[in-house]
Amino acid sequence: MTVLVFLDPAHPHGRLADPTQPSILATDQGVTRGDGIFESMLAVDGTPRKIHAHLDRLAISARTMDLQIPGANVWKSAIATALMAYSVSDSAATGEAGQCVVKLVVTRGPEGTNSPTAWVTVNPVSLALAAQRAKGLNVLLLERGYDSDIAARAPWLLMGAKTLSYAVNMAALRHAHSQGADDVIFTSGDELVLEGPTSSVLLAHISDDSGVPIKRLITPHLDTGILPGTTQGALFAAAKAAGWELGYGPVTPADLLDADAVWLISSLRLLAPVNTIDGTEIGTPEIRSALTAELSALLAQTL
Ligand code: PLP
Repeated sequence: MTVLVFLDPAHPHGRLADPTQPSILATDQGVTRGDGIFESMLAVDGTPRKIHAHLDRLAISARTMDLQIPGANVWKSAIATALMAYSVSDSAATGEAGQCVVKLVVTRGPEGTNSPTAWVTVNPVSLALAAQRAKGLNVLLLERGYDSDIAARAPWLLMGAKTLSYAVNMAALRHAHSQGADDVIFTSGDELVLEGPTSSVLLAHISDDSGVPIKRLITPHLDTGILPGTTQGALFAAAKAAGWELGYGPVTPADLLDADAVWLISSLRLLAPVNTIDGTEIGTPEIRSALTAELSALLAQTL
């Protein structure tokens, strides 16, 4: 069962609530307009991973959409309360062992008030997500419907903020599933690679054009309006220390097909190797699995 804790000024450590009971007003703008922001982070053995990166990104998302949200210490207290309650709940024994998902949500609150609604939930990590790390993904390229320079031209589109408006992202995933694929990589109108509906995109080269061995990781440039991935950021820091050369896009679909390996990467799924894109195999199974093991070990150091 979900553990639910509201951030409530009358309860400095957060207010535990019954997740089976109604808690949000029907006029809450998070519900009526998707007007709010969120973060999802992994906790391992009761400790949230990259908590500062997530709280920093939540604060940036809030600023982007003029939303007043509780400070970092208030969130940390509520997260601690939620993780404590989760550790003694039946759910702690389900899902991927020792791991759980901590989700932070803030909405603009009920219409006519100036009072955001904020809460934390804790749930098991789905076994399906964990399986993706092992099995890899078949991915479709799908159009996102805007050009890669839109973020600078149209700040009201809230590009780069983690808003609650994920209906399009979920629809893209349903479309992929209906075509027999597992996941999606979005492309811009000007045909650059953006991100997955719930992940960042990463590619690796282990030899240059003349076959000389190299170690190079590339991810699309943030100017394209994608979400700055906390997992990609953490992995880049660890990979740099381990001698990888790092680069930011532009990345084209042809670059993905030409890579030795491609991953979808996020806080919950960590590194999921992409086996095929639109039916074309990326690299070889041996290279994909060796590089996934190497980079997963680097990522684990940062967790
Ligand atoms: N891009 C999108 C659209 C996402 O929803 C996510 C995560 O949910 C990511 C990228 C990866 O972000 P992170 O690594 O911080 O989980």
